[in-house]
Amino acid sequence: MSDAKSSAATKDFDAIVVGAGFSGMYMLHKLRELGLSARVFEAADGVGGTWYWNRYPGARCDSESYYYAYSFSKEIQQEWNWSCRYPEQPEILRYLNFCADKLDLRRDIQFNTRITGARYNDTTHRWDIETEDGKRVSARYFITAVGCLSAAQIPNIKGLESFRGKWYHTGKWPHEGVDFTGKRVGIIGTGSSGIQAIPVIAAQAKHLTVFQRTPNYTVPARDAPMPADFQKTVKATYDEITRKTRASVFGMPFDFPEQSALEATPEQRKAIYDSWWDKGGFGFLLSSYNDLIINKEANETAAEYVRAKIRDIVKDPVTAEKLTPRTYPIGTKRPPIDTDYYETFNRENVTLVDIRSLPIEEITPKGIRTSEAEYELDAIVFATGFDAMTGALFKLGIHGKGGIALEQQWAHGPQTYLGIATTGFPNLFIITGPGSPSVLSNMPVSIEQHVEWIAGCIQYMRAHNLDSIEPSEDAQRTWVAHVNELANETLFPQADSWYMGANIPGKPRVFLPYTGGVGPYRDRCAEIAEKGYEGFVMT
Ligand code: FAD
Repeated sequence: MSDAKSSAATKDFDAIVVGAGFSGMYMLHKLRELGLSARVFEAADGVGGTWYWNRYPGARCDSESYYYAYSFSKEIQQEWNWSCRYPEQPEILRYLNFCADKLDLRRDIQFNTRITGARYNDTTHRWDIETEDGKRVSARYFITAVGCLSAAQIPNIKGLESFRGKWYHTGKWPHEGVDFTGKRVGIIGTGSSGIQAIPVIAAQAKHLTVFQRTPNYTVPARDAPMPADFQKTVKATYDEITRKTRASVFGMPFDFPEQSALEATPEQRKAIYDSWWDKGGFGFLLSSYNDLIINKEANETAAEYVRAKIRDIVKDPVTAEKLTPRTYPIGTKRPPIDTDYYETFNRENVTLVDIRSLPIEEITPKGIRTSEAEYELDAIVFATGFDAMTGALFKLGIHGKGGIALEQQWAHGPQTYLGIATTGFPNLFIITGPGSPSVLSNMPVSIEQHVEWIAGCIQYMRAHNLDSIEPSEDAQRTWVAHVNELANETLFPQADSWYMGANIPGKPRVFLPYTGGVGPYRDRCAEIAEKGYEGFVMT
């Protein structure tokens, strides 16, 4: 039975969810199935999350469309048609709106509402939640679906407020779009968003200056329209595709390669890398060899292949050298895929500035001044990413038992059990939290797994008349050690990446997601649930 009621001061729900992207939308659907009173709060004025906010030129997914989607609804799978291999942002946003309509979600989503406080009440054992405009609600279960990549990061550069042109962050792009025709544009950042935006902005702007701190390895996406017969095959084999994604390492329906890059001859390796380069997409890294991310020498074969491609594609050798990554293994920063990225630097209207050796000193009224020169600009684009995985969580102002702030509890890095829950914060569930595969996977697969696990847990609690759940300190300590141990067996910690918190000054250097793979992680979560939520304390 639902314990929802209303009073003049506070509205009470069984469950409150923050965020209406892939995660929050499905969570709402599952909570309703359980018969719970639930409300989703969303800062935006529509659903879509990432695909609502990231409207920059060139924004698209780089998981392939047929598996970058919900798998829980056969109806949605059969009714929706993807136009191409890597749809652009408007199409993905349309898809999520289609899902919201289909599941009739909007009546329980309160849009234009930002959550700024969430306190566990030690007396009522409920969560007291506050919105930006000072309204209060309460709930037994507090579920965050705030996204791993939703807290936009704008670097603290002196003088930004003095800039006379316009500036934008890729993750908060104006809905009406931006026309760069005839404009001198500067873009800071060459991560996944920058790599998508740079070719498109270069094609429109009068001049584009790319301010690069770290060169990136990127592989062609090779987007193409979705062939009708492929669409048909996909629709006929969704069950098998879903089974594969769920059992896989990265949440994609591909077999993990069996061969080491070091067992192949240089000629064999070249043939394999050529074939994946030509096919495009993540296959180059994920399907060629099994040891690229764990063995430096194996990794170097793929890194060197991409470096040679850069030398081939980019005509000016000085620019090619600046674009060549040498300081970290390939794949240890979020791997981008691109459409004509390296080719763009052959354009007359594109300049590359290496801000590692010639740092930005300030933003002036006229543009950007590095230690070497002032670049006059009409617009600046920050493709500087996000305070990943913890940024949006901390902004919720979460306080657990005894009033302890989540930020304080995690001062030296996130402490979670399974990346879903954290000791001292009863009935708080974190969808795709740190310590789960999350951003190392094709995310809808990981999102669905978390949502279903959380719904199963709540159902169990209700069936057993249990009021609260939180991880035991022991289970949490063991999990955190396991997450770190597995990460340290890979090359990931060798890069200054946002996976490591390295893009945020002062953020603890801890590898945030779980590297053990989607399939094994899923099995572990299921086993824990089957054993009556082993490692959790329930009262
Ligand atoms: P989000 O989509 O981030 O939604 C979170 C929502 O929570 C947002 O709408 C936000 O407004 C809301 N919110 C946050 N804080 C508050 C608050 N305090 N109060 C109220 N509302 C709040 N993943 C892949 O697997 N494959 C891809 O190809 C891929 N491409 C990507 C491309 C870009 C440009 C970006 C930024 C991310 C990409 N991702 C990709 C990751 C992507 O974030 C996930 O795939 C997925 O969309 C996450 O869904 P979510 O619902 O968990 O979070």
